[in-house]
Amino acid sequence: MNKERFNNIKGVSAVTLCLLFILMLSGFKAVQENSVTIEQVQKEHGVVLVGINSNYYPVTIELDLKLKNMISSEKNPLTTVIPGKSKLELLELEVDTPNSSSGWEYNFKYYQGSIFAKHNDKIAYRLPYKIGEQHRLDQGYNGKFSHKGDSRYSLDFNMEEGTEIYSSRAGTVVEIEARYSNGGKHKSFIDKANYVTILHDDGTFAQYSHLRKNGVTVSIGQKVKVGERIGYSGSTGYVTGPHLHFTVLQAKKGGGFISIPVKFATRAGIKTLEEKKTYTAY
Ligand SMILES: [Zn+2]
Repeated sequence: MNKERFNNIKGVSAVTLCLLFILMLSGFKAVQENSVTIEQVQKEHGVVLVGINSNYYPVTIELDLKLKNMISSEKNPLTTVIPGKSKLELLELEVDTPNSSSGWEYNFKYYQGSIFAKHNDKIAYRLPYKIGEQHRLDQGYNGKFSHKGDSRYSLDFNMEEGTEIYSSRAGTVVEIEARYSNGGKHKSFIDKANYVTILHDDGTFAQYSHLRKNGVTVSIGQKVKVGERIGYSGSTGYVTGPHLHFTVLQAKKGGGFISIPVKFATRAGIKTLEEKKTYTAY
């Protein structure tokens, strides 16, 4: 078998404008370069490509192959999802006609979240504060002040700094930020919000933002049930004052996120929350 290796391997972390846009409002960190790698396992008549994701969240990987006298076990290009903290066999390449020259190369890019995630609309979210406490929703879905574009399905709960924040839905903590101390209307605060990001079992994420300095009480990788305390509210990042910004996010093809509408359990039943109304955690 004469195999010439023209495998030139490039890992590109996709940092898109959309991601930055979400980052501005709710703070998902850009995916780390080289946090996803591909390992090549030699076989007798070819090679197996294995994707390794070192992030706690799933990533979508787009892999493009250039083959010479080789056949892929999967379609080309391939778009697939590697779960968090795991290895996944992506495909196998086999020599087509033995004893003639063959080779392969690939390029890939990856981005946060699964583009195949489908939100479970049957879930009734829990209001993200202490049972019996009430807070006004200062900005709701499609809020004129800043809930626009990909962030349109976000909620701003009015609350004083230091209010206990509880998980609205069960999941795994996949990202936290707690080092920032300040916030304000100036654009320099755009990427300086503290937050907790929780991955749900349907592949969507909930984000709780603008928490106070050191105001995160969970750690990365931790599993949380609904109604567990996860931190304390604050006014870090790009804000006009103390509040909790809550949003459920789904990964977009090509990178970045789009917010999605969800319903909450309230005393009046399972509802889409409305701006300027006050809701008691229940
Ligand atoms: Zn907001």
